[in-house]
Amino acid sequence: MIVDRQGRRFRNLRISLTSACNYACTYCVPNGKRLVAAQDELSAEAMARGVAYLIEAAGIERLRITGGEPLVSPKLEAFMTAVGQMGLADISLTTNGQLLAKKLPLLVDAGIRRINVSLDTLDASAFRCIARGGDLATVLDGMDQAAAAGIKIKVNMVPLRGQNLDQVMPLLDYCLERGYELRFIELMRMGHLASDSNAFLQQFVSLQQLLSLIGERYEYLQADAPVDATAVRYQIPGLGHFGVIANESVPFCRTCSRLRLSSTGWLHGCLSSSNRHYVGDLLDKPRHQALPALQRLLVKALGDKQEVAFSGGVTIMKIIGG
Ligand code: SAM
Repeated sequence: MIVDRQGRRFRNLRISLTSACNYACTYCVPNGKRLVAAQDELSAEAMARGVAYLIEAAGIERLRITGGEPLVSPKLEAFMTAVGQMGLADISLTTNGQLLAKKLPLLVDAGIRRINVSLDTLDASAFRCIARGGDLATVLDGMDQAAAAGIKIKVNMVPLRGQNLDQVMPLLDYCLERGYELRFIELMRMGHLASDSNAFLQQFVSLQQLLSLIGERYEYLQADAPVDATAVRYQIPGLGHFGVIANESVPFCRTCSRLRLSSTGWLHGCLSSSNRHYVGDLLDKPRHQALPALQRLLVKALGDKQEVAFSGGVTIMKIIGG
């Protein structure tokens, strides 16, 4: 097992199935152009082999399928069928929910039991301004259908000053009423926000600001979370839970166990590092040749992790897998 000086190892793998997305969220893609799939994206078979090799080489236990938007990818079915047979402790998905109802039978058949849906507002016109694609009612319907099919839903919201702060309480109430867990994600200095401090600071909303807002209506208690959890979790007694992924306010680098594989075959050990390691060619090789080379690259990828705190990264989330 590859472990660093701080006792960190890779347990959680995030796969960006494609960089293509049917949204162009303002904080993710500054020019508003929707991203298409890269020409050199790996096949579903190569990506699934990547998962199998990383289970062996790094001790991966849990897989999250993300992107880009994973549900737009033609590779989805073949990839999910293959990884469903690998004995992973958990396979989950992060989606913007636009195609959730349509893809639900496939996801249920593949054994997906947990889905994170990104949703920044319940206001249809603010939704159009932030996501610059998709339709709010379709997302809400997709979540209803997924919940009715027994899937556990978490909702990811990025609070942005001046754009959706008025939606913090409506979204929290919406989620509490339906038994979805709301996760606020503090805005991260990724992509254009890594180099534009003004744009970042103008929009950034901290954990403390969120808690003050929520505290005006509800009493909450801090709840238990696994050691390598990225979210600080809270319980509103009798009503449910919410969480905050507080990259800036409560950095979690010291316990980070995440590894990312991009759709074009690059391993990223840390969102905050510009280092990446190409493994696309190794995934076509037989196991006995691929694993030793992969292990050498995993040592480097683990060495890319920050010691204490997230400091930002120029790669946009859609490429690296949010
Ligand atoms: N398309 C899928 C979706 O919308 O969930 C998966 C990819 S998306 C990049 C994953 C998550 O990253 C979303 O919840 C999105 O809000 C979040 N995200 C993207 N850029 C971010 C940033 N700069 N700061 C915080 N969260 C960000």
